Amino acid sequence: MDAKVTAGPAAKALLDDLFANGLLFPSGVDGLYGRSGTFEEVIERFEAAVSKLGDVDNAERIHFPPGMARATLEKSGYLKSFPQLAGCVHSFMGGEAEHAQLLAKITAGDDWSELQDATDVCLTPAACYPLYPTVAARGALPEEGKLFDLKSYCFRHEPSQDPARMQLFRMREYVRIGTPEQVQSFRRSWLERGQGLINSLGLPCHVDLANDPFFGRAGKMLANNQRDSGLKFELLIPITSEEKPTACLSFNYHQDHFGSLWKLQFADGTPAHSGCVGFGLERVAIALFKHHGPDPKRWPAAVRKVLWG
Ligand code: ATP
Ligand code: ZN
Ligand code: MG
Repeated sequence: MDAKVTAGPAAKALLDDLFANGLLFPSGVDGLYGRSGTFEEVIERFEAAVSKLGDVDNAERIHFPPGMARATLEKSGYLKSFPQLAGCVHSFMGGEAEHAQLLAKITAGDDWSELQDATDVCLTPAACYPLYPTVAARGALPEEGKLFDLKSYCFRHEPSQDPARMQLFRMREYVRIGTPEQVQSFRRSWLERGQGLINSLGLPCHVDLANDPFFGRAGKMLANNQRDSGLKFELLIPITSEEKPTACLSFNYHQDHFGSLWKLQFADGTPAHSGCVGFGLERVAIALFKHHGPDPKRWPAAVRKVLWG
């Protein structure tokens, strides 16, 4: 099955602009790009503005690598819900004879991947997946719960020529673990902070109810349930289309899904609830370049002030 996600002409034109302006560099694979110094600086400045809003809450910072334990991803249920997006790292584990076969296949232009086997490492699909078992392993959660500040490169197999849909991109997340009230008030506060921040950057946005792309027929029900229960909101910015704006921040409420799964609980055994706010760093940067132009030195003074002080 072809996994390619079709991109409209406006999206392809924007990707070409980003290449032409030297902000992104092609790799030969859709959704996999090099980033210029200017692109990275915009992300760094945006993250600093996010930290300024988030630091008041004393979050504990943990950075996991872009690969995570395969066993953890399996237990998380990711392959049940999103098998189409997951990536697993494979390596060659044969001897001399298999190596000769491998080289022969490469020389002949044949598929050599069957000579590789799955390792214990999967690619991290969202910054918060490795967090829950890590916190559970520490023992009972304090009454006031916990707050974490995460960032990771994430992989999703959704190759596209829309520059806002990459296969490897960075997610900055705050994750609140605690009672339902604690998690919901965290989400409310970030819904407000997020819109305030994006507006201060001169970007149009609105928040809407959303659902994840759960796989298959059973997935339709999960998606409907997620919507009906108001578990996912997105902050949308028009980047390549007014009618189909792009999700740049996501606000997710997992209820006690991860708490029950990982036995992440309070001292009395009650499973914790959790929620996260995820910033798509490349998407925000691309929105800024799209709306204000390729040269940050020429961006509106008010926008520069928020980012550069
Ligand atoms: P979409 O509906 O556009 O696929 P999503 O619902 O899959 O987005 P989340 O799973 O909530 O997004 O991920 C959190 C954030 O990560 C999103 O708000 C977005 O900013 C960013 N993100 C998600 N997928 C990609 C991608 N393929 N490329 C770049 N950023 C992404
Ligand atoms: Zn998350
Ligand atoms: Mg998606």
